[in-house]
Amino acid sequence: MNEVVIVGSVALDTIDGPGGHAGDALGGSASYAAYSASFFSRACIIACIGPDFPAAAKKVFDGRNIDLTGLETVPGTTFRWSGKYAKGFVTRETMKLDLGVFAGFKPAIRSALPESSILFLANIDPDLQMDVLEKAGGKALVATDTIDHWIRAKGDVLRKALARTDIFFLNDEEARLISGEDNLVRAGKSIMAMGPKFVVLKKGEHGAMLFSASGISVVPALPLEDFRDPTGAGDTFAGAMLGFMAREGKRDLDTMRLAMAHATVMSSFVVEDFSMERLRRVTAADMGERMDRLRELARF
Ligand code: AMP
Repeated sequence: MNEVVIVGSVALDTIDGPGGHAGDALGGSASYAAYSASFFSRACIIACIGPDFPAAAKKVFDGRNIDLTGLETVPGTTFRWSGKYAKGFVTRETMKLDLGVFAGFKPAIRSALPESSILFLANIDPDLQMDVLEKAGGKALVATDTIDHWIRAKGDVLRKALARTDIFFLNDEEARLISGEDNLVRAGKSIMAMGPKFVVLKKGEHGAMLFSASGISVVPALPLEDFRDPTGAGDTFAGAMLGFMAREGKRDLDTMRLAMAHATVMSSFVVEDFSMERLRRVTAADMGERMDRLRELARF
């Protein structure tokens, strides 16, 4: 089956910024990626939560094309992350990071994924990413994401995962950090040399770049007036891109470019409210309207 299998965090986020405050809101890289991917294809979450995880947060996934059989409830506390955005969202500071139940989590995976599946190693401990890659990698297309914390804390393990990655997602800051290059073109090229066949470099309101053996493609971001919280935008982008590719069953560059446009549209929604709130209200007509707007925006 064409599906996206996602290992990553399922979290309770506390966020403060120019858009206001949210406390213990549903977050995490796997949550955002799966919710977004499910607009296009089936998404399966491999993650863990504690018994303290609110039933209302789990209900957010109800009615979506999301398989939660790999979401294990284990003794301990749910992963919690808290972040603070500066005026104009120019910077983000992590105030608290509590791995909780993720410390030492070894998911129960019985068999490798088929070639038609996409395995997304979303932002989480690189040791866990490697564990899932070894158990489930098989012939599936492998995509990887990360965050500055893991580049600093476990860069060596992350690099092992990158050597087996087809598509690596990261933002401009992370690209500079992992490559040691200030210039993003140089950074992208140097990251390609670490193993990934494709590098997707996300630049927030400045759009995204796709590095491949054929060169660089770009997609602009949709200019937005209503902007409340950028948390999870990167995970939403990756989820939509991979969900679209799973639905199409194709992995060529043209499909990836179109997938990036859909990813741009989905992340333009998620930033308009906290958590999954805006994504929950998105209709097919909304998606179509923004795709048209993006096409018009980038027309020459
Ligand atoms: P993004 O804004 O795309 O970087 O993703 C933010 C999401 O990632 C939040 O919902 C957090 O719960 C989660 N997150 C933050 N730090 C980490 C981390 N070190 N490992 C895994 N997930 C994290």
